[in-house]
Amino acid sequence: MSGGLPPPQPLVSRAGRFLVIHEESFTGVTISSNVYVLESDRFYVFDAGGRPDLASFLRACGIEEGRIGAIFLTHGHYDHVTGLRSLRQFEVPTFISTKDAALLESSVQGAGAIEVSCEGPARILESIGIEKIDTPGHTPGSVCYLSKPDRTLISGDTVFSEGFFGRTDLPGGSDAQMIASLESLSRMGIDAILPGHGMYTMEGGSDALKTALSNAKCLLVP
Ligand SMILES: [Zn+2]
Repeated sequence: MSGGLPPPQPLVSRAGRFLVIHEESFTGVTISSNVYVLESDRFYVFDAGGRPDLASFLRACGIEEGRIGAIFLTHGHYDHVTGLRSLRQFEVPTFISTKDAALLESSVQGAGAIEVSCEGPARILESIGIEKIDTPGHTPGSVCYLSKPDRTLISGDTVFSEGFFGRTDLPGGSDAQMIASLESLSRMGIDAILPGHGMYTMEGGSDALKTALSNAKCLLVP
């Protein structure tokens, strides 16, 4: 008997150049988000999910903590950031908009995340072909990450594959900002959408964005 719990068996798939750890992997404690991982010289993790033991799920996917180059967060809600707790001892650089720093702090005290707009994270993102786009509306500091070679958008809770947009009724949400963010995203020529929740789509991203924009214009107050 070796004792201890068996390692988790994450539900994973591949979306273009990203490994997807689906949110259903993290059941049991709280709600979670999808986690996306890009392998380059190191592993780059987008969102950290809602369970405090993300590291064990990453390990089950062959991703050792010491090989994680950086973590980029789409926003500060607890279901996207709580997994950071398991990675803190490795001092992985973690980036989030400072406008969401207080949200992050309320879920992961002392997380010490760095502003995503600074030169350091911009250089890392450039080296892996990714552009950060400010998309406030769901939260003040919400951002999306656009993978430029394959027009793939890691969209957090701003927009989902089916053409729905994220909630704006939580603290810091803004109807007008959500509409403006969807307007700018819908002009970008997006193919794939990798959302914070639900299934991703590998094609028709722009159509989903246009649907989300027209839904938002009907349902929100600009
Ligand atoms: Zn959220």
